[in-house]
Amino acid sequence: MLMHNRFLLHAIELAVENVRRGGGPFGALVVKDGIVIATGANQVTRTHDPTAHAEIVAIREACRVLGDFQLTGCEVYSSCEPCPMCLGALYWARPARIFFAATKEQAADAGFDDSLIYSEINTPYSQRVLPIFHIEIRKPPGPSPTGQRKPIRPATERSLRIATRPATFSPGHLFREKPIASSLPEGAKLLLPLEDRLL
Ligand SMILES: [Zn+2]
Repeated sequence: MLMHNRFLLHAIELAVENVRRGGGPFGALVVKDGIVIATGANQVTRTHDPTAHAEIVAIREACRVLGDFQLTGCEVYSSCEPCPMCLGALYWARPARIFFAATKEQAADAGFDDSLIYSEINTPYSQRVLPIFHIEIRKPPGPSPTGQRKPIRPATERSLRIATRPATFSPGHLFREKPIASSLPEGAKLLLPLEDRLL
């Protein structure tokens, strides 16, 4: 347990140092066989990268060091409980274990509330605050027995199965109401020419 404390304190030191440099208060490190092989600190604002959380930065560095896309046999130490994005990345990276110091509830109290993302995952598409649309792309028709292609009906708004419920998007603690259009989403317009090309 002492070793875990030592590595966690190291992650917390990274977080504190990162704040001094104008970054977010998060640090993480990847350990393999008792040796720190990568460290990471939040670089979101510094690099204009919303995915540059401490754990992601550490995972990328560790994978580069190992020359592998998985952190087999590694342990990840984070100053804070991983957010849903980092937790997902950690599952993909498959380290042996994860240790963290501050809980997500403590992070929320400090202004870093990601509870919305956790709840969104189990919320039906049409009820999410971040509009998301499932658009079924129809495959081009195969050749008919006579060797001629079957005519394809043009896609309609109804056939795209879009959700039209107006919603607001509140990413994390940055609440900003923004009504969405209740018509065809932008993505659907982009996909229609794609279907034409498939013909
Ligand atoms: Zn994160």
